[in-house]
Amino acid sequence: MKKKPQRKRARVERSSQKRRPKNPHFEPISTELATIGKGFQARGWALGTSGNFSAVVSREPLRLAITATGLDKAELATEQFLEIDEEANVVRGNGKPSAETLLHLAIVRGAGAGAVLHTHSVSSTVLSGAHARQGGIALEGYEMLKGLEGVRTHEHREWLPILENSQDMVELSRRVSSTLQESPGIHGFLLREHGLYTWGVTLAEAKRHVEILEFLMEVLVRSGAAQSS
Ligand SMILES: [Zn+2]
Repeated sequence: MKKKPQRKRARVERSSQKRRPKNPHFEPISTELATIGKGFQARGWALGTSGNFSAVVSREPLRLAITATGLDKAELATEQFLEIDEEANVVRGNGKPSAETLLHLAIVRGAGAGAVLHTHSVSSTVLSGAHARQGGIALEGYEMLKGLEGVRTHEHREWLPILENSQDMVELSRRVSSTLQESPGIHGFLLREHGLYTWGVTLAEAKRHVEILEFLMEVLVRSGAAQSS
């Protein structure tokens, strides 16, 4: 008689944990993100636990797969990803979400992104410091610009805004949202002396945008643009 309510409580707890069926996209998306993240680390764009990567696993309700904080990206694995809800609460996986999770959510909402990738390369760090006073960097005339979604010609002028860095993620995510509202055509932005955020409708598109923007920033650095202002 006494055991019955206990069993009932245990059942309730179990059923609340499993109330929603596990999203079947979470694991394959996390595996893809891990592969991409390791590739970025190998290129020197996500060293020393820096950088974070996310992708939408469902829209209704909004769920993201995102890197847990403090991971060596060289060793990134599927099981190190967390599933988070629209308020950055962890609904699946072990670990703490990255401090920058709110920025990922702001980009998913503001740019309609399906994936958000954030790197800390030498080029983005140097350029975002050197050009901070101009509020951004203009990328113009390069053939590689055509790798950005919707760009058809090297004559395109891509504006890469530079936002002042902050450790206050609530405040910074608001600035990210207003930047996306003010400049709806952008493909990415820089945080000053911190790194690059870019995104895509798909994970493949977001990965391409990292490669294109990192390439173009490296071109600017190597051609001396870091000293131009
Ligand atoms: Zn960062």
